[in-house]
Amino acid sequence: MNEQSNIAVNADSEPVAFNAALAEPTNVLIVGVGGQGVIMVSKVLASLAQAHGYEVKQSEVHGMAKRGGTVFSHVRFGPRVWSPTIAKGEADVLIALEWAEGLRWLPHLKRDTGVFICDTKRIVPPFACLSRRLGAPMRYSTETAEQVAAYVSEAYAIDATKMAEELGNERAANVVLLGALSTVLEFALPEWEKTVTAFVPKKTIAVNSAAFELGRNWIADAKSEPATADAALPSVPTHTPYRPRLEITDAWCKSCEICVKLCPERCLKLNADRVVELVAPEKCTGCRLCEWLCPDFAIRVHLDTEAPAMEAAQ
Ligand code: SF4
Ligand code: SF4
Repeated sequence: MNEQSNIAVNADSEPVAFNAALAEPTNVLIVGVGGQGVIMVSKVLASLAQAHGYEVKQSEVHGMAKRGGTVFSHVRFGPRVWSPTIAKGEADVLIALEWAEGLRWLPHLKRDTGVFICDTKRIVPPFACLSRRLGAPMRYSTETAEQVAAYVSEAYAIDATKMAEELGNERAANVVLLGALSTVLEFALPEWEKTVTAFVPKKTIAVNSAAFELGRNWIADAKSEPATADAALPSVPTHTPYRPRLEITDAWCKSCEICVKLCPERCLKLNADRVVELVAPEKCTGCRLCEWLCPDFAIRVHLDTEAPAMEAAQ
């Protein structure tokens, strides 16, 4: 377990087993932002519950999903389910693929028995950039794991994205969280594995199986080890120095110049091949407008926390 980035809070409690034979349906809320695979998690769970003969109701809202907007899905299953949506304070499990989205939905979790499983991945939205000064603070949640722990009965903050990256496929982070989810619902492991395999592309089965196992094992480790609630979350680019880094996919750039014209710092240009290039990296504030505006998804802006800040926060 990577203790610097994975934090379990209140992890000394027994696994929560929801008895779906009871009259009350089990409510699982899955939240994140566009492109993270929220809907896939929701479909796996709905399919698994349906295969068990439970009545399943699933609803989802995508918003501006393709632009990194909020995506959430309610899954309810049990012998009888009347409504497709989970009311505030009624979710048995809240699975969050992004830290701030997880915090935003916390009031939906059952205060006394709810389980919160959250990727510590932080996707800072473009409009969080409040100032054009380099390294200026960004408007983004600053809550700590300890504050979250005080609000819920059982919480896990897991660096699923980093775990998936280490497996060679960042997109498998949602399957890491499915592995974690599998430890708190009653379905048998082979059923989980079979269903996950059915929902991922054939060529990614191996990496997704490994991701699923990592998520499961991480929870098991967290439960068997003393909680590290006093540990800091991975440092966040809100009050700490960060360095913007642009990832440009040349093949996707169609030379439209939208980003070039609308970059507030005028630090982008088309090069001789008519592909966008960061020509003045020292001016880039990491505002993410270029990423947000590019119609071809050719730019990704990463806000790398600088090494000294990482050390200071640990
Ligand atoms: S290059 Fe992109 S992230 Fe950097 S300042 Fe310009 S629009 Fe913002
Ligand atoms: S907005 Fe996208 S497609 Fe247009 S020039 Fe910029 S990177 Fe290329």
